Amino acid sequence: MLHALSFDVEEYFQVANLRGHFARGDWETVAPRIDVGMNAILAALDRHHAQATFFFLGWIAERHPELVRRCVDAGHEIASHGYEHSFLQDLDGPAGLDRDLARTEAALVAAGAPRPIGFRASTFTLTRATWWAFDVLARRGYRYDSSVHPVRHPVYGVPDFEPGISTVRAADGTEIVEFPVATWPFLGRNLPVGGGGYFRLLPVRVTEAALAGLEKRGRPSVLYLHPWEFDPAQPRCPAPALKRWRHYLNLDRTLPRLEHLLARHRFGTMRAVLAEQGRTFEERVLPRY
Ligand SMILES: [Zn+2]
Repeated sequence: MLHALSFDVEEYFQVANLRGHFARGDWETVAPRIDVGMNAILAALDRHHAQATFFFLGWIAERHPELVRRCVDAGHEIASHGYEHSFLQDLDGPAGLDRDLARTEAALVAAGAPRPIGFRASTFTLTRATWWAFDVLARRGYRYDSSVHPVRHPVYGVPDFEPGISTVRAADGTEIVEFPVATWPFLGRNLPVGGGGYFRLLPVRVTEAALAGLEKRGRPSVLYLHPWEFDPAQPRCPAPALKRWRHYLNLDRTLPRLEHLLARHRFGTMRAVLAEQGRTFEERVLPRY
């Protein structure tokens, strides 16, 4: 079974966890490090002849169009992670998300990518409170979303949501495919095994057991990682102890773990996995921007 490999392309200083340390207004003053992680990721994918989906921030695509082009040239899928990592609830409602998406699409297209059909919200902030985002995504021609996290979490998550591939109907009747990152049911809860701190904390065999278990249930997995997780030498900054621990834990293990998985399992883009699961997308006339 083909599983989806995805990367949220953002700088270490744009991560929600470190927000208290890097104000939005300071981003321009911080030395970029995105190349370090992207070089490691693209080389590993190349070595294993694997494809992935890269959810780019528009902010990154504007400043590093060559990274978008390198991904396109290597056959990877380009999707949208929004413009500047804003939580959906902090955007100015549907109109604010519409502007944010338009700006990101423009940056991706200017960098040489096709217009994206996939979206992942910053920090899984597509929740019942921001469900209107599906209406905006439908209007802008998106075909799939990977923002709903079916877990219990104080800030995000829709714990009772279908953890496999499902369909959400937007207000205008358009169907959007929802393809959440991988979770594993454990003691009545869904554990987020598809990435983040769990991927670096738990032994890689836990990830593999989850992949195999989900596969047995007929479900492909979505793994999600970030370029900063492949950059053990990134500057350390002061943050509350738990956030620090979660961000810096085992950064030197991400690459060998990914290579281990790439050598033993089949990974492809979100779009390729959806196609293998019978979800193909016909071309649609998109609104201009
Ligand atoms: Zn992100």
